[in-house]
Amino acid sequence: MNPKPHTAGQAALQIVKKLRSDGHVALLAGGCVRDMLLDRTPKDYDVATDAKPARVQELFPRARLVGAKFGVVLVRKSGFDTEVATFRSDGPYSDGRHPDAVTFGTEIEDARRRDFTINGLFFDPLDDRVIDYVGGRDDLAAAVIRTIGDPDHRFSEDHLRMLRAVRLAARLGFTIEPQTANAIERLAPNLKVISAERIWRELEEILTAPTRAAGWSLLVQLGLCDHLATGLLVRESLLAPTLRPDSAIQRRLTALPASPIDPALALAVLLCDGGVAAAKDVCRALRLSNRLTQAVVWLVGSLPMLRTESDLELADLKILMAEPNWPQLVELLRVDLIATAAYPAPYEYVCRRAEAIDSADVAPPPLLSGDDLAAMGMPPGPRFGEILNTIYRAQLNTKITTRDEANIMAGELMMS
Ligand code: ATP
Ligand code: MG
Repeated sequence: MNPKPHTAGQAALQIVKKLRSDGHVALLAGGCVRDMLLDRTPKDYDVATDAKPARVQELFPRARLVGAKFGVVLVRKSGFDTEVATFRSDGPYSDGRHPDAVTFGTEIEDARRRDFTINGLFFDPLDDRVIDYVGGRDDLAAAVIRTIGDPDHRFSEDHLRMLRAVRLAARLGFTIEPQTANAIERLAPNLKVISAERIWRELEEILTAPTRAAGWSLLVQLGLCDHLATGLLVRESLLAPTLRPDSAIQRRLTALPASPIDPALALAVLLCDGGVAAAKDVCRALRLSNRLTQAVVWLVGSLPMLRTESDLELADLKILMAEPNWPQLVELLRVDLIATAAYPAPYEYVCRRAEAIDSADVAPPPLLSGDDLAAMGMPPGPRFGEILNTIYRAQLNTKITTRDEANIMAGELMMS
């Protein structure tokens, strides 16, 4: 079970070797061990050691202390960053997210401070040996997510673990052990105290992954989605009538492809029934970037234009197609139609029309510019923009195709 050459895993192995030759205990720890045992490629590798951060920094001059409080040092090797953390036990938690203090401790304490049994394993890559103080191997074999120790206690320490449980269960196709699940159901309202940024980071992973339908279903079953983004996701019955396993949201999520998707599309799939204003509220509550918010709002706002085999003007279609998120919009349309059993007619109609448009004709340079209009004696003002827009729409609609035609049209519009 050794990491492949030229990988993040090899870099971690080199770090382990160096710490060991310096007389320290050093092991691979946590998620990477879980993933290696499951034959999955770990996202990142963590090393746990009895060496204190200062010693780690001496041994690896290019290392950076990233979590002084937690004794975490980031070591850069062969182009990969590996977190090297000193064995520790976490003190009491009073903010529902972080320990007030940590003390350096033993290997066993370091295993027990971790969240779930499957995340509490160590691997000694030099002896090719898994070290299990928490029953993680049995739970891996049984495909079960279980907290290390009392679930009420562990979720009360750090409420974010509730979302981590869902993310892991969905991603790995595991079930959440009944006592662990039961604690989540009871403690779900505590999500409120977690920052929107942290919630979004977990939610984004849940929703963009191919296993998003299973993830959402768990969020619903465990009552967590009521408390995401301080309840905004369900406020004003935005999602409330759809919080059933057979909801439109669930059907849309199920209809998405089994590959990662764009976060804007993921959110639009959740929010497209609620309208633009509500979508904006949710994006704001989740403190998303302006760029992501705009993309979500555009998707939610544009979908109704395509939902029916409507008389959408060619110009409107081209304006939609010119947006960078057009492929996402087409996908949103597809899954929305599947969810409402209206597939495939409107989808095929839109695709047929879009395919018939040459890419150069989607957003052609305007036949007439603002300068041209000003040169014709058009004074500045609201009418100026309206006329330019009308002429450009006529161009997109192929009503006019030459500059002469555009000039004539401008003249007529200025007179009227
Ligand atoms: P991923 O594959 O998404 O990286 P992971 O389990 O490796 O999942 P990380 O955030 O990389 O998650 O954390 C590495 C390890 O640190 C975890 O496997 C777990 O042992 C421990 N850990 C992370 N977050 C927590 C937490 N909130 N509470 C307790 N232990 C945690
Ligand atoms: Mg990890």
